[in-house]
Amino acid sequence: MSSVVLDKVTKVYPGDYLAVDRLNLRAEDGEFLVLLGPSGCGKSTLLRMIAGLEEITQGDLWLDGQLANHLAPRDRDVAMVFQNGALYPHRTVRGNIAFPLEIAKSDPALVRERVTELSKALHIDETLDRRPGTLSGGQRQRVAMGRAIVRQPKLFLMDEPLSNLDAGMRTELRMEISALVRSLGVTTIYVTHDQVEALTLADRIAILNRGVLQDVGTPAQIYNDPATAFVAAFLNSQQLNLLAAQVRTPQNQYVMLDFGPHRITLPWSDPRAYAISQHTGGQVLVGLRPDGLAPVPESYEGPSFYGRVRTLEYHGHEWLAYLECGMPSVPVPEPPDPNRRVNGGTNGSGKVSGLMRRLFSGQPEERPAQEQVGQNPNSGIHRRSDLVIRLGNRPVWRAGDAAKVAVDLSRVMIFTVDGARIDPPRR
Ligand code: ADP
Repeated sequence: MSSVVLDKVTKVYPGDYLAVDRLNLRAEDGEFLVLLGPSGCGKSTLLRMIAGLEEITQGDLWLDGQLANHLAPRDRDVAMVFQNGALYPHRTVRGNIAFPLEIAKSDPALVRERVTELSKALHIDETLDRRPGTLSGGQRQRVAMGRAIVRQPKLFLMDEPLSNLDAGMRTELRMEISALVRSLGVTTIYVTHDQVEALTLADRIAILNRGVLQDVGTPAQIYNDPATAFVAAFLNSQQLNLLAAQVRTPQNQYVMLDFGPHRITLPWSDPRAYAISQHTGGQVLVGLRPDGLAPVPESYEGPSFYGRVRTLEYHGHEWLAYLECGMPSVPVPEPPDPNRRVNGGTNGSGKVSGLMRRLFSGQPEERPAQEQVGQNPNSGIHRRSDLVIRLGNRPVWRAGDAAKVAVDLSRVMIFTVDGARIDPPRR
């Protein structure tokens, strides 16, 4: 078992490409930490720096309290499983799993015992004498997992180990990974772009975007109380309703979110009211998950929106309704892409670039001024003005119906126009 601490870790690839930007993160002893984010956000780079397969440009990596930036990979006691767990094709399953122990010249009786034990736990004991070429994708990943875990590493690193498998196999192996890793108590860092995998497997999730850490917390914290609009939208199996509103505080009696055709008021007793009121006269973004909205009768007098049902969508286990209600939905604000602002990379010339100078001089990052949402007609407000509502397994409306939906105020998330939470998330 081992703890992992990343202290302002930065990775700049040749060509001046900033892949990971001053990232602070800690995996506790025995923790299952999931790195989640869209493709290209720097997850694998981070994992490879922890494994020692990629050099750290700046910042420190501590493994079990020891500074590990320059520790050789073999001295880190780390095992890694990749997306297509490359196996030795001419060795049997038994030979593949046993390989790390044979290299370490372990006692053959112990090797036999460990291989038998692990192959049972991974449900591949029937395949021990077969070669990898004769196995299914799921079986091959099980062998890769067995080979990684057989020598009981201090740290287990997994890079999208399930992404090449079909849906059924993914679910099955996901449960087995969780059970196996937890029974061994090995600290695990697991990379995925799949929110379901992250929510189901993790003790804690760290979400990245464009090389920058967005949020860290338990699955419930990240889902219910996300730090940014990006995190809220990324952890949403349906689309997040994200709307622009103006903040008003009429006669200081209450806080009003004015969406144009619709308004919602928050009493001063609401714990978020003060923080939101600081934006009086300005714009904010309001996030509402489809399950924070519920159909109500016309006579309902609580916080609500109304409109016309454009369409209903059947998803098997539930129905979604799209309600046209005249409020344009806003695209999720993204942090500026650091690599589009970088000038004059080394490009093979050997000169220290602008980015490297900034990193090593500790100069602050230059960020372009943020536009007010809606200021520029082309700045990305969608024409679509539908709210997505989760109806459960009963389609209470038909397309074309006039409809009203109650807004669960406890589920409303308020962000600045650049996507930061206005009321601080609880961690
Ligand atoms: P993820 O695992 O989140 O998909 P990666 O860590 O693989 O992302 O990559 C992060 C970014 O760094 C990507 O834009 C990728 O193209 C770039 N990158 C990865 N490896 C290299 C490399 N060896 N040289 C240059 N750029 C790289």
